[in-house]
Amino acid sequence: MQTGLRRTCEGCTLCCKVLRIDELAKPANQMCIHATAGGCAIHGSHPETCRVFFCLWIDDRSFGPEWKPDRSHFVMSRSASGKGLFLNVDIDTPDAWKAEPYYSALKRLASGARVGNYIAVSVGARCFAVFPEEDLEVCDLGPGCEIMVGYRDQPGARQPFAMVKVADGAIHTYNGQVYRN
Ligand code: SF4
Ligand code: SF4
Repeated sequence: MQTGLRRTCEGCTLCCKVLRIDELAKPANQMCIHATAGGCAIHGSHPETCRVFFCLWIDDRSFGPEWKPDRSHFVMSRSASGKGLFLNVDIDTPDAWKAEPYYSALKRLASGARVGNYIAVSVGARCFAVFPEEDLEVCDLGPGCEIMVGYRDQPGARQPFAMVKVADGAIHTYNGQVYRN
């Protein structure tokens, strides 16, 4: 939810590292060659992907200053549907999302998530769907992937469940074990 005027990046360039920029053939988790301490060296002619991207911290003031990506070491964004909260973690600090106050807050958000909403954390090629009960490791959520999360009823308990439709159309399901259909 947008709760105020857009913040400014103020020295942060983390999205220029963690995100994939196809127009520049820049892979994820590698700093863009155009990034400088003062910002983007090609600002004004930078790619469309960069022009339209604003991380969640920029727009959502419910996340305090400690969530600024150059402090938290991860970049948050919403999925196109608005149902997903993505964290792209700086590969050089892979456990940053498990540090406090972030981890407890993510678990609280997962607890209060509406049915169908999800939190997905990407750390290099490793991806996790965050549930209050556990962090379920799923396949790499690359371009074209769709993820759905929920619970499977088990005798005496419900079990976190995730399903990922990957770019080639295959469906991967996860509930503690990996099955490939
Ligand atoms: S991650 Fe957010 S705050 Fe940092 S440079 Fe990108 S848009 Fe700005
Ligand atoms: S082109 Fe500029 S805005 Fe885009 S990733 Fe590189 S440094 Fe960042």
